[in-house]
Amino acid sequence: MRVGIGYDIHRFDGKRPLKLGGVVIPSSRGLAGHSDADVLLHALTDALLGAIGAPDIGEQFPSSDPRYRNTESRHFLEAAAAQVRHRGWSVGNVDATVIADTPRLEAHKRRIRHAVSRLLAIHPTHVSIKAKTTEGFEPGREGIAAQAVVLLKKIPRSSASARRKG
Ligand code: MG
Repeated sequence: MRVGIGYDIHRFDGKRPLKLGGVVIPSSRGLAGHSDADVLLHALTDALLGAIGAPDIGEQFPSSDPRYRNTESRHFLEAAAAQVRHRGWSVGNVDATVIADTPRLEAHKRRIRHAVSRLLAIHPTHVSIKAKTTEGFEPGREGIAAQAVVLLKKIPRSSASARRKG
């Protein structure tokens, strides 16, 4: 088994839509960033890359690279998931926390959970999305942060070679 941890934070940007876990969330403000600024998918991508000891999201998809401008962050996650599979691992479960004072995410957690499970091709019961506020402390007023932990399981050799043949 392998375990990986990811963390990210983005500032609010009033001109952009808010995306979390690939889902557009009703909000008066989105997040600033070079890509679509999906802070949850960035944390999750880093957790996957960390679990296999691969270079992190900032190294693999640098914000200085114009190719990634306004990119949908699911591409980063899918690329990380492909690296995980290529090295013979599968995702066991994901546990993530989004830290946001606004908007309130209770009503959206289920949708985000299902979206993340689809992106990773795992059952929704293996994905946990939690939402916390900072109770009004300064960072919560300026942006949104996310943390993610993933557990990877070794793909049995027999099924890995069967997959290659198929
Ligand atoms: Mg980021």
